[in-house]
Amino acid sequence: MDLIALPAFADNLIWILHDGANAIVVDPGAATPVSDALRDLKLRLTAILVTHHHPDHIGGLKALAPLLRGPVYGPAHEAMPVDVEKMSQGMSFELLGTHVRVLDVPGHTAGHVAYVVTEPGRAPWLFCGDTLFSGGCGRLFEGTPAQMRHSLDQLAALPGESRVCCAHEYTLSNLRFARTVEPRNTALADYEARCKALRAEGAWTLPSTIATERAVNPFLRVREPDVVASALDHGAASADPTDVLAALREWKNTF
Ligand code: ZN
Ligand code: FE
Repeated sequence: MDLIALPAFADNLIWILHDGANAIVVDPGAATPVSDALRDLKLRLTAILVTHHHPDHIGGLKALAPLLRGPVYGPAHEAMPVDVEKMSQGMSFELLGTHVRVLDVPGHTAGHVAYVVTEPGRAPWLFCGDTLFSGGCGRLFEGTPAQMRHSLDQLAALPGESRVCCAHEYTLSNLRFARTVEPRNTALADYEARCKALRAEGAWTLPSTIATERAVNPFLRVREPDVVASALDHGAASADPTDVLAALREWKNTF
């Protein structure tokens, strides 16, 4: 399978996983970039995966329905504008020779799901919507810090080589915050330099990997002494990982 990132709106990425003939599209917030890409690459739309109900992730579903030759998989506990196969924690299915596993990752929205797509012998692709970003995480619109911490812990436990396909290119602004939280993290400084060079060339910083995120993302590093100390300086109620995450998220909201 090959992976393509299609830009949409200001900073969304719509991911396409394809085998040269058939395509799986993730979170089509807009239909036109998707239908243009399918036409240009002569791909049949075989399935759509949806992570959560926000308009920038579902806005293209109705317009793409006539092109679709298979199901839409979506979160079991969120309202969707089209009929979906209702997905929740632990469910799995086969798609174009890949194995797809579903995780519940509430926090950004109450019913947010993520998809881990595995092709035999290759690093998994993680489609995590607005839960995990490179260097950051989604805002807590509907969930609690405890839910988000549990969701991020689940994602952090995936194999290190897993490719993190987030739904927004927010990496540089996330890393500016991360460096403020953890100024002594040299892996973070190196990663920021690499990402700046990629963006200067007009390239995406994504997909990232789970190993990279474990090394640089403060929201996955809520047990690291430097992250805990910074969070305590910014209003964390205690060194408990949930309190640390809550303080980081509040701090980032106004950073
Ligand atoms: Zn969202
Ligand atoms: Fe979004």
